[in-house]
Amino acid sequence: MILFFKPVLTHNIWGGTKLRDIWKYDIDGNDIGECWGIAAHAHGDVVVSEGKYAGKHLSELWRDYPELFYAQGYQNSDRFPLLVKIIAADKDLSIQVHPDDEYAREHENGSLGKTECWYILDCEEDSKLVVGHNAKTKEELDSMIDDKRWNEFIREIPIHKGDFISILPGTVHAIKGGITLIEVQQNSDITYRVYDYDRLSNGKPRDLHIRQSKDVITVPALAPADSLMHDDDSAEILELLKCKYFDVWRIKVDGEYRGRQDHPFTLMTVFDGEGTIDGHKIHRGSHFLLTADVNEYCIKGNLKIIASGVPVR
Ligand code: ZN
Repeated sequence: MILFFKPVLTHNIWGGTKLRDIWKYDIDGNDIGECWGIAAHAHGDVVVSEGKYAGKHLSELWRDYPELFYAQGYQNSDRFPLLVKIIAADKDLSIQVHPDDEYAREHENGSLGKTECWYILDCEEDSKLVVGHNAKTKEELDSMIDDKRWNEFIREIPIHKGDFISILPGTVHAIKGGITLIEVQQNSDITYRVYDYDRLSNGKPRDLHIRQSKDVITVPALAPADSLMHDDDSAEILELLKCKYFDVWRIKVDGEYRGRQDHPFTLMTVFDGEGTIDGHKIHRGSHFLLTADVNEYCIKGNLKIIASGVPVR
């Protein structure tokens, strides 16, 4: 079965109108920042939009119908493992870092840590992302943060449409204004804000988490080349990331593509074009999930998809 979802849209101080104007999501406001396309989190829990399970939240399906997500060798956890978002930033997001599972379990009431990754859908010329920092040692890290030497501390890397960036726990990162991307991540919302450009939200600065950030930031940072790759759009299937928590790949369909499901279940978001999957219409902005009973599927049309699944290995 294919489950189609009605996404959850969020308002953010750095948001804009692209998710309505370009992506055609039905939401008011000029501060729309995120589309949670496939999510079963307390802060965003998508609803099935059609078929037998219409109206049910993804979290309910995960709890009440485990057979939809079951595969031999795969042990369902107590919560849906992944979260897929489209993020459209008009202004810069705060500079932040996520903990790993171990730190989050101990300090955040048993929450998961967060590994995430970004596929750049659109950006301006000369766009940059914050990925990593320039401190060589832990002492240097602490003093750069304590002394607010942000320009020295923050490492910006140039990015282009089609770039793919892995953000491991402990990586300082920030999305800059003008960038639209798709994010695949562990289902967690634990974020430590290192610096917020001294902005005010409703008249007050947003909370920073300096102690936790210093605890979890990896020093020195990974080299940019170790977390960045580029999709030149030539391959039908491009493997983007395989990690402990999820596999991510890009599918390009030009006419017809027949796939086999080799994960317990597969998440897909269409980011360009339109067509069908097993006869169901899909277009840019469609989010859906192939349940465990799907062995093979057929996508027709001209479109591009980011797909992800949890590995059984
Ligand atoms: Zn993040």
